[in-house]
Amino acid sequence: MSILVVGSVAFDSVKTPFGERDRILGGSATYFSVAASFFTDVRVVAVVGDDFGPADEAVFLEREIDTSDLERVPGRSFHWSGEYGYDLNVAHTRDTQLNVFADFKPKLSDGARETPYLFLGNIQPQLQVEVREQVGARLVAADTMNYWINNTAGDLREMLGRIDVLVINDAEAREIAKEANLVRAARRILSMGPKRLVVKRGEYGAAMFTEHSYFATPAYPLEEVFDPTGAGDSFAGGFMGYLAATNAIDEAAFRRGIIYGSVMASFNVEEFGCERLRRLTYEEINARFRELRAFSHFEEAEMPPF
Ligand code: AMP
Repeated sequence: MSILVVGSVAFDSVKTPFGERDRILGGSATYFSVAASFFTDVRVVAVVGDDFGPADEAVFLEREIDTSDLERVPGRSFHWSGEYGYDLNVAHTRDTQLNVFADFKPKLSDGARETPYLFLGNIQPQLQVEVREQVGARLVAADTMNYWINNTAGDLREMLGRIDVLVINDAEAREIAKEANLVRAARRILSMGPKRLVVKRGEYGAAMFTEHSYFATPAYPLEEVFDPTGAGDSFAGGFMGYLAATNAIDEAAFRRGIIYGSVMASFNVEEFGCERLRRLTYEEINARFRELRAFSHFEEAEMPPF
């Protein structure tokens, strides 16, 4: 089954303690699509300006991502500038320029409207809702970030009421719920609409909540993290990609999806931008899936009374 993603296609200027890059291809929809393209067919809905050239489009085309719903308009593409300190879990936004995204009105092609899996990547919640309304998908998941939580709270609540799964990081979960305890924050978010909440916790892994279940995994232990940008989106790409590929949306599939998401995110952060994902092989994905399974597997036991 195929996936439709709406989100930002951006140029990012990123500084980490290990280096700096100016105006490299990024954006939530870019990282998501490249990661998900290892699992199934992906269509991307976004807008780019005339600074988006053939070398940028090649990143999508070489992974056979369908760009026919990628609108091109005069002007500059979305630009995000951010910095990370030694705590790579926290991105400090220096500047966000919506540029061509400010006037974007997504109009989907017929093919896009029939896509069974929909991911509303991080972008204005109002745009997420506009795309959601045009697609009768089997499963709808979404992401957001503090920028939208703080600036567009009403639209965000509307979006939350129209999705099945919310995939966010722990700080965002606390902010949306206005609750410091993550378990209580999860319960509050589930009461706002989504039936399932996936919380990304950077180097500490990921957790998944429904009203009646809980699942968690550690992150893949990496010795070198170069650039955490896109970790969340490549996680979501692996997660949704697996669900769409198997067309299974039961608890076991969601759990495996969390592991594939963690695997894709762990590769993405090894290099700047999408570079690592562009070179990734299935052998590498499968090996890391097995390792992650082994890292947290334990046998059943029961202590007899002492
Ligand atoms: P993450 O996976 O959370 O690290 O997301 C990183 C990507 O999000 C970057 O490539 C940015 O271009 C993009 N981004 C940053 N801020 C925003 C925003 N306010 N809306 C949409 N995309 C954003």
